[in-house]
Amino acid sequence: MNVAVDMVSLNAPVRSFVDQPRQALINGRWQDAQAGETFEVFNPATEAVIAHVADCKKADVDLAVAAARRAFDQGPWPRMSPSERGRILWRIGDLILENLEELAQLESLNNGKPIGVARAADVPLAADLFHYMAGWATKIEGNTISLSVPYTPGAQYHAYTRREPIGVVAQIIPWNFPLLMAAWKLGPVLTAGCTVVLKPAEETPLTALRLAQLCLDAGLPPGVLNVLTGFGETCGAPLAAHPEVNKVAFTGSTEVGKLIVKAAASDLKKVTLELGGKSPNIVLDDADLSVAIPGASNAIFFNHGQCCCAGSRLFVQQKSYDKVLEGVSDAAKAIKVGPGLDPQSQMGPLVSKVQFERVTGFLRSGAEEGARTVTGGKRHGDKGYFVEPTVLEGTTDQMRVYREEIFGPVVTVLPFKEVDDELIRRANDTAYGLAAGVWSSDMRRAHRIANALRAGTVWINCYNIFDAALPFGGYKQSGWGREMGHEVLNNYLETKAICASI
Ligand code: NAP
Ligand code: MG
Repeated sequence: MNVAVDMVSLNAPVRSFVDQPRQALINGRWQDAQAGETFEVFNPATEAVIAHVADCKKADVDLAVAAARRAFDQGPWPRMSPSERGRILWRIGDLILENLEELAQLESLNNGKPIGVARAADVPLAADLFHYMAGWATKIEGNTISLSVPYTPGAQYHAYTRREPIGVVAQIIPWNFPLLMAAWKLGPVLTAGCTVVLKPAEETPLTALRLAQLCLDAGLPPGVLNVLTGFGETCGAPLAAHPEVNKVAFTGSTEVGKLIVKAAASDLKKVTLELGGKSPNIVLDDADLSVAIPGASNAIFFNHGQCCCAGSRLFVQQKSYDKVLEGVSDAAKAIKVGPGLDPQSQMGPLVSKVQFERVTGFLRSGAEEGARTVTGGKRHGDKGYFVEPTVLEGTTDQMRVYREEIFGPVVTVLPFKEVDDELIRRANDTAYGLAAGVWSSDMRRAHRIANALRAGTVWINCYNIFDAALPFGGYKQSGWGREMGHEVLNNYLETKAICASI
């Protein structure tokens, strides 16, 4: 298959991976979709087709869920000793690192992100997640509880809790960090002893499929992990509604998150959600601007703004406003935009035509509503889904660019006078609550602001710092539950109370 000129830099395993149609993984076997259909996967830098993958629909969902159900009800995985499970999880982490270059190239090719970022962040973080979770496999514990039951005076009980895997889990993930989102989801669900059907985003299925093979290579028994490539409406929806699924874990838009809740409501499946954001990033006059300016720039432009935690509303205290506006604008102008597989590129294309149209639509709406474009504001080049890093000012609280998640490299810069209740009110004036940033040399003030912000993560004098041990998730409409840290295990465990009369 002719897969565009930048293929020359791809290594042999990547080339052979994309050259064959990729099948779905069901019950430990790679197989075509039941209807025999496939769909195309694109390189967003060139708009060229790079691969074909199985177009899985309800019939495939039924097979995959049945396989996961059998693997849970009868298979070895939930019954295996925790240390054996932990060793397999650790081995998955090792295999990710052993295949780092292949995974990084595949990710950059499919998602568009700079190859250097995929090598330094996406792939090592995915490995870390499995290594971190591997340690938890042996540390899932209940409690013993002393009872004082008023209507059985003198009786004694031995009461304790067990944490048990929740069962068959459907996991639906987005395209912004395709491998890492798969790792965030799979690491804990497997650690808990559940079985799973994973649906990667239609735009970016390749690294999830490669990861699934690594999971099999590491010794994961058949049926424990099933991967269906397909579309939201025809694959994701029947998966989220399937009566044999016990729990749905979703990452993506708040809009689809609400559909997931509806789909799960029919039989009250458990649901966790990691959704959008419109995160405030606050620079105080006493901040070290030599750190805050590049930090605020990274907060929005990292991953082309396609981050649920992007610092998209940049609040700057009055005295520093001009300097920060100029500094972030200069940083935006200096970003080298180009194909992710070009090692010189610092920002790649948006992931897809749909996303490109969405983001450029927001840029038009901002201009129409009266926002001032300080830098950027339009398409970059005429091939591929590139958008200029964009800085807006003069936005009001009512504008769509201020209120809605753009999910592109677009920041609105907003002045404020005092560090007071009004600042906190403005920062919290969003339906979302995923993340926030504070830049200040006064730690006392910074921590007070952090406490007042209604967000699941607050970074002080840094941004976009992720670690497998640090819980991540949203307040308000940014989601339910947490990813990572030991807290994520709660997403996949039930608590059973056992009470014996002794
Ligand atoms: P999305 O529609 O929420 O997609 C996320 C996942 O859900 C994909 O796997 C998608 O499949 C699937 N899906 C879509 N409709 C579904 C349904 N009815 N039932 C079950 N699953 C369904 O996100 P998107 O369309 O790719 O991006 C739109 C916007 O979402 C972005 O502009 C951004 O604002 C937000 N977003 C947020 C995050 C985040 O990390 N919080 C990540 C990505 C996007 P398909 O691949 O077929 O659509
Ligand atoms: Mg989509």
